[in-house]
Amino acid sequence: MKKYLSLLFFSLLFLLACNPAEEKKLDIKETTTMTPAPYAIAIHGGAGTILKENITEEKEKAIRAVLDRALETGRKILEAGGASADAVEQTIMILENSPHFNAAKGAVFNYDGKNEMDASFMDGKTQNAGAIGGVSTIKNPIRLARAVLEKSDHVLLTGNGAETFAEEIGIEKVDPSYFRTESRWESLLRAKEKEAKSGFKFDQEPDFKYGTVGCAALDRKGNLAAGTSTGGMTNKRYNRIGDSPVIGAGTYANNATCAISSTGHGEYFMRYVVAYDIHARMAYGKESFQEAANTVIMKTLKDQGGSGGIIGVDKFGNVAMPFNTPGMYRGYAKPDEKKIFIYGETE
Ligand code: ASP
Repeated sequence: MKKYLSLLFFSLLFLLACNPAEEKKLDIKETTTMTPAPYAIAIHGGAGTILKENITEEKEKAIRAVLDRALETGRKILEAGGASADAVEQTIMILENSPHFNAAKGAVFNYDGKNEMDASFMDGKTQNAGAIGGVSTIKNPIRLARAVLEKSDHVLLTGNGAETFAEEIGIEKVDPSYFRTESRWESLLRAKEKEAKSGFKFDQEPDFKYGTVGCAALDRKGNLAAGTSTGGMTNKRYNRIGDSPVIGAGTYANNATCAISSTGHGEYFMRYVVAYDIHARMAYGKESFQEAANTVIMKTLKDQGGSGGIIGVDKFGNVAMPFNTPGMYRGYAKPDEKKIFIYGETE
């Protein structure tokens, strides 16, 4: 009898040890809708210390309006049976053209006072991808990223080479002054001042890097696509390129699982191959999109000190948008549903 009792005791102990209490400890700030849909689109405008007390009502209204316009643009394409790739490109262009986000117009300044932009695009059906890094005259970097996918034999082009390719295929270029906004210029001055005083490095200051934009979409044919566009980090040096144009880190799409766009501290997203890791957990570990995305953002990344989040859509039209920063500009739309969030709110 005693033997059985101790067996029971140890079995109970074992079960308790296996219980995924870890899972419960995750401080999940996410707005997931695990309701399948014939099409779905999700967007972000960057993650970071986005707090209500730091944003005027007017600015919040303006940001919400752009996020709404971007979502509606993509939703209309998907509603009419258009391709997810078109929805992603058109949606991101709206965000790029707005001075409120750190992508194209409104991009942050690097150490030399220049705007240097990165972008990437991936097609979930073909696994084709295109990306560009360190461009400074391309009006809509996401268009060029998609053109690399469609019109070149390569995946990633950088700097002058990427600009030459753009000229050859007729992608719109602008004078570098087009990208300038006063608030980003002031951020650079503040970053430099901090650096001079305390040896500040851009990677220790979360407020100098949010605002990247991204989009993921599922169309009625079951095709997924994702894209990301950014100015990178304020005061970046040495032609630093972050995760945004790195396939598997900043962007990933695969019709077998999901489509993802990342935002946050790029160095960590590259090291932990964030977007691909979420896909792999689903593909090989049979995790749900929500589980996989939450674990990677709220555990893998957070435990290592990596800040940021992702937005994405899975092959069923479920949407996940976890982030481990105080806020993330984000939103999603499905046939009868649309939501936009800025802070840590979940409703
Ligand atoms: N991930 C981008 C980078 O590291 C920045 C961001 O998402 O805000 O370049």
